[in-house]
Amino acid sequence: MKIENYIRDIQDFPKEGILFKDITPLLNDPIARTACLKILVNSLKNQKIDKVVGAESRGFFFGMLLAQELNAGFIPVRKPNKLPYETISASYELEYGSDSLEIHTDAIQKGDKVLVHDDVLATGGTAKAVCELVEKLGGEIVQCNFLMELTFLNGRDKIMKHPIFSVLSY
Ligand code: IMP
Repeated sequence: MKIENYIRDIQDFPKEGILFKDITPLLNDPIARTACLKILVNSLKNQKIDKVVGAESRGFFFGMLLAQELNAGFIPVRKPNKLPYETISASYELEYGSDSLEIHTDAIQKGDKVLVHDDVLATGGTAKAVCELVEKLGGEIVQCNFLMELTFLNGRDKIMKHPIFSVLSY
């Protein structure tokens, strides 16, 4: 099973010059999806996870599968003004300007063992902001994992203090 066969390259999406890694073929294939989930779970080596935190929106897909498999809670981190309850936020830099992400204040208890998940690690801004939110609430990050990592963007450097695992690297 080659997981990379289920990732499709889309040239010039969402704007010119970007080669977008599309995971929808992977989501659409139950056998490849299960194989990918198994790789992610095995990388944790039986470490206990209380909460899986997934980044909006593509981090929700495997984030929820991971939470189910690990018998853990699932916590969505979302773009501003999407979460209905009380939130805290963390901002991160974009190519032009900045953006922010939010988490519910009661989503994580102090000392919770947390797995942070997103589909792609690119520049690392998103993952760094998610880690900041988790740590502000007192969560202990066990691992940050990704379906794929775009190594040439050096996203790892921003979350280096945490263990990182990616199924695929480009
Ligand atoms: P970063 O903050 O630059 O690391 O970008 C990571 C975020 O952008 C993740 O939430 C991804 O979903 C999204 N992203 C960046 N590049 C791609 C891509 O090629 N395919 C799918 N999502 C991407």
